[in-house]
Amino acid sequence: MTFQGGFCQLVGSTNSTVPSAPAYNSNEFWSSLSPAGLSDVVKQLCDALRPHLNRHALSGVGSVLLSGPSGSGKLVAVRAACSCLNLHLFKVDCVSLCSDTSAATEEKVQVAFSQAQQYQPCVLLLKDLEVLGRDRDGLGEDARVIATLRQLLLDKDPALSHPVLVIGTTCKPQNVPTDLQTAFLHEVKIKAPSEEQRRLMLSMLTASLPLGKEVSLSKLARRTAGFVLGDFCALLSHSGRAACTRIQVLSFPGGLSEEVERDFCTAGFPVLEEDFSAALDQLHDAHSQAVGAPKIPSVSWQDIGGLQEVKKEILDTIQLPLEYPELLSLGLCRSGLLLYGPPGTGKTLLAKAVATTCTMTFLSVKGPELINMYVGQSEENVRNVFARARAAAPCIIFFDELDSLAPSRGRSGDSGGVMDRVVSQLLAELDGLHSSREVFVIGATNRPDLLDPALLRPGRFDKLVYVGISEDRESQLQVLSAVTRKFKLDPSVNLTTILDKCPAQLTGADIYALCSDAMMCAVKRKVEWIEEGLDTEKSALILTMEDFLQAAARLQPSVSEQELLRYRLIQQKFAAS
Ligand code: ADP
Repeated sequence: MTFQGGFCQLVGSTNSTVPSAPAYNSNEFWSSLSPAGLSDVVKQLCDALRPHLNRHALSGVGSVLLSGPSGSGKLVAVRAACSCLNLHLFKVDCVSLCSDTSAATEEKVQVAFSQAQQYQPCVLLLKDLEVLGRDRDGLGEDARVIATLRQLLLDKDPALSHPVLVIGTTCKPQNVPTDLQTAFLHEVKIKAPSEEQRRLMLSMLTASLPLGKEVSLSKLARRTAGFVLGDFCALLSHSGRAACTRIQVLSFPGGLSEEVERDFCTAGFPVLEEDFSAALDQLHDAHSQAVGAPKIPSVSWQDIGGLQEVKKEILDTIQLPLEYPELLSLGLCRSGLLLYGPPGTGKTLLAKAVATTCTMTFLSVKGPELINMYVGQSEENVRNVFARARAAAPCIIFFDELDSLAPSRGRSGDSGGVMDRVVSQLLAELDGLHSSREVFVIGATNRPDLLDPALLRPGRFDKLVYVGISEDRESQLQVLSAVTRKFKLDPSVNLTTILDKCPAQLTGADIYALCSDAMMCAVKRKVEWIEEGLDTEKSALILTMEDFLQAAARLQPSVSEQELLRYRLIQQKFAAS
């Protein structure tokens, strides 16, 4: 337990409020009365607590349940609110109140409250409230502890001259037992900060840090979607470390003596754009792993040949709402997009490029991964995906092979109707996205005709985009140049001539297969030459026209004429509907 405030307890002393603190420096984030990005929360806390400061005014203890993601600045906000209201702060970690038996926990809770009363006027901060009220195995609720807490929170002791105010903080409000939640009179939530709030936080936190000239805090704020206060602190310390390493490597390749290093750190050195980028990459990786979104291989738009229309459609759906949120206040919002077409046409590749371009968390889910043999588990998996996405907003969820996750209801042959329940759960979650507006879904399927029609209604996957195969040489050339972009080609290679030797109908995957086949030819040739002593491993691998022609002669299109016809019919059907 820690006690913070300007009061020291002596026999015969009288309690008083904390003197207001003119010495507070408004630039200093941690002691500011209105910390950047959190000033709204501080105001809400003050507004909730102020009426309870007058002991005649309201019955019951003034209490607030403050919830927000871990590291979002709950304690900073409470501290600032206490300073604003001139109150002492008595902080109790609820983990330290948990004991072996309910009776012991109950007693510790009572002791904490009576200690807080000695410090009045004071705010009793119950940190990590969700651990209280759980029984020892953490599964059920401990009715006795909850009842005690309710009594302490709801009863007003008329003998008190100054009130005790209680703030409970939690990262997981859903884990706080309902009876305990309802005992709190007010509820304040800290949301993930907006771009402007992030910029303010960054500028306040970096106020005393020497920054390189090219560092743009607005750009950093844009790149840190989903970050909270704790993440920014981590970002700054990682960037500081990156800057330190950079300077050590550049200026003192032989290493530094401890003394010089200390002097160096005291003198300070500028943190540059590149240090922030390195730190940001590290944090993004950690962040993605925490929400279960593994790192997506970076794919740039240059890696994709053609498909300009589809690219525009995706960017309109995802980037416009983020750039012009005011337009969406009209209520028109599109959150789902369905890419359909033959396999190997680049649907997954497009989604990866979107993930790389938009600095948003990207959750990629393959439909079959979510299906589980245990009753209720598949629906739970679907729910979890959306919960993870909401926690990491702004976020894109990409459902690959959507047809396996959402087949038409009433038709699937499984006995318990598991798939029907999964589809219903998916529909419910998609409808729930309207309130968040920062979670987008992209689906990809080869068989849109198998999907449950309810999925395609307005407000769900309401925009259908056909990703077709490249039929004309022009678009095939674009794909071939995109795929061969990173290869070293012999000057004799002519991409148009290669395509003339190929079948007319080619998907992107066929062209990729052609190139990898050509590369295998080149590798085989090189190995032979190395064995004969004519070449070395160090020289670059060069693909010749001959390699491509050999590969083209072997190439079989993966989508047959007949299948293509079927896809055309499907496209016509969906374009008409
Ligand atoms: P889909 O998801 O439509 O079945 P993929 O996106 O998985 O197809 O494509 C398979 C591979 O084909 C990709 O990894 C990529 O190498 C290649 N490919 C497909 N379309 C294109 C394209 N338009 N440009 C470049 N490569 C492509």
